[in-house]
Amino acid sequence: MASVLETDEHKALRAAVSALGNRYGRAYLAKVIAEKAHPTELWAEAAKLGYLGVNLPEEYGGGGGGIAELSIVLEELGAAGCPLLMMVVSPAICGTVIARFGTEEQKQEWLPALADGTRTMAFGITEPDAGSNSHRITTTARRATDGPAGQAEGQADWILSGRKVFISGVDIADATLVVGRTADARTGKLKPCLFIVPRDAPGFGRRQIDMELHGAEKQFELTLDDVRLPADALVGDEDAGLLQLFAGLNPERIMTAAFAIGMGRYALSKALVYARERTVWREPIGAHQAIAHPLAQAHIDLELARLMMQKAALLYDSGDDVGAGEAANMAKYAAAEACVKAVDQSVHTLGGNGLTGEFGLASLITASRVARIAPVSREMILNYVSHQTLGLPKSY
Ligand SMILES: Cc1cc2nc3c(=O)[nH]c(=O)nc-3n(C[C@H](O)[C@H](O)[C@H](O)COP(=O)(O)OP(=O)(O)OC[C@H]3O[C@@H](n4cnc5c(N)ncnc54)[C@H](O)[C@@H]3O)c2cc1C
Repeated sequence: MASVLETDEHKALRAAVSALGNRYGRAYLAKVIAEKAHPTELWAEAAKLGYLGVNLPEEYGGGGGGIAELSIVLEELGAAGCPLLMMVVSPAICGTVIARFGTEEQKQEWLPALADGTRTMAFGITEPDAGSNSHRITTTARRATDGPAGQAEGQADWILSGRKVFISGVDIADATLVVGRTADARTGKLKPCLFIVPRDAPGFGRRQIDMELHGAEKQFELTLDDVRLPADALVGDEDAGLLQLFAGLNPERIMTAAFAIGMGRYALSKALVYARERTVWREPIGAHQAIAHPLAQAHIDLELARLMMQKAALLYDSGDDVGAGEAANMAKYAAAEACVKAVDQSVHTLGGNGLTGEFGLASLITASRVARIAPVSREMILNYVSHQTLGLPKSY
């Protein structure tokens, strides 16, 4: 029977992905991280089973579903201890933007490969001097003027220059979808343009950032030094502006919520096993309400966050970009807070073992903070809700 929140197909997808995730589990990811490798086997198998491209259109090799389905995949892999962070960018942001705004050639070139996992795409918007204020980004695209005589302006190559920071997975991604602005829109409100920049494009440099994060995906600082790109590297319209960008950013927020909920569930599951067994007085520690209640609260918070995530995914998949924007922000906020609390309480539940490598929970303390900062910080969501939803004045 179909339920309002999740259909029988959704439940079956959850169960199937959970089985896959548990076959790999935390031990697999821990080994990958220790070997400074990438979760390529899991990525390939998830792709083969149709999970990575579940949101992409069927005519381009995808599953014909939406962000609701893709978020289920990421949440369940996370709950099994082996989340695939690149799902947040490759199929969710880049796949969605190309599917919605790309040319037929771009769709043919990228969507089947993103869906079958043979190609991956990173996403770069954050800049060192812009950070939370995307309107300040200065990565700039101008048209080359040295093309063949008689070439129409729209056919001229692009020359892209700028810097990006904290961009995930650029080393493993075949290309990065870079957010820039055109030369005639250098100042004022952001009129973003999106460019596909191949990993080895001349002038496209990267430096790995030393992050104190226990994760397989690395973050990079990027330099774009007059990177020359063909005219068709531009995805969507030069003038389509924020609508196009948010078509990708709302799925990113929903997927970050899925990432956080999965991690919170994973930590909580470890704490519950421990609390049921560990006995230092007469009863297992889970019988003490000082242990049980915070775990129950963490579970409730994760469930509530999932409810908002489901609402956001439903709105997005039904084409309500505005409604989805508000819900996606709230879902990301709620999920990040729930994840931080769940991880904190789980580590605490294990006492000294919470800080051992053997139990592997302590590294989640830093990892759980990621969703509070990225892709948009907790404070910027509170600002958004204050201004957009509650109509309060702005301080900045
Ligand atoms: C692990 C990781 C992976 C990432 N991956 C990517 C990626 O793949 N692609 C990408 O483009 N970016 C990525 N990011 C970048 C991320 O989106 C940014 O870190 C985030 O947007 C915050 O920007 P910032 O770090 O410059 O912080 P800042 O903007 O400098 O903010 C610093 C602090 O000030 C607060 N603050 C700023 N302005 C206000 C205000 N007006 N009111 C109240 N408080 C304010 C913020 O909330 C924050 O707490 C990643 C970051 C991390 C940590």
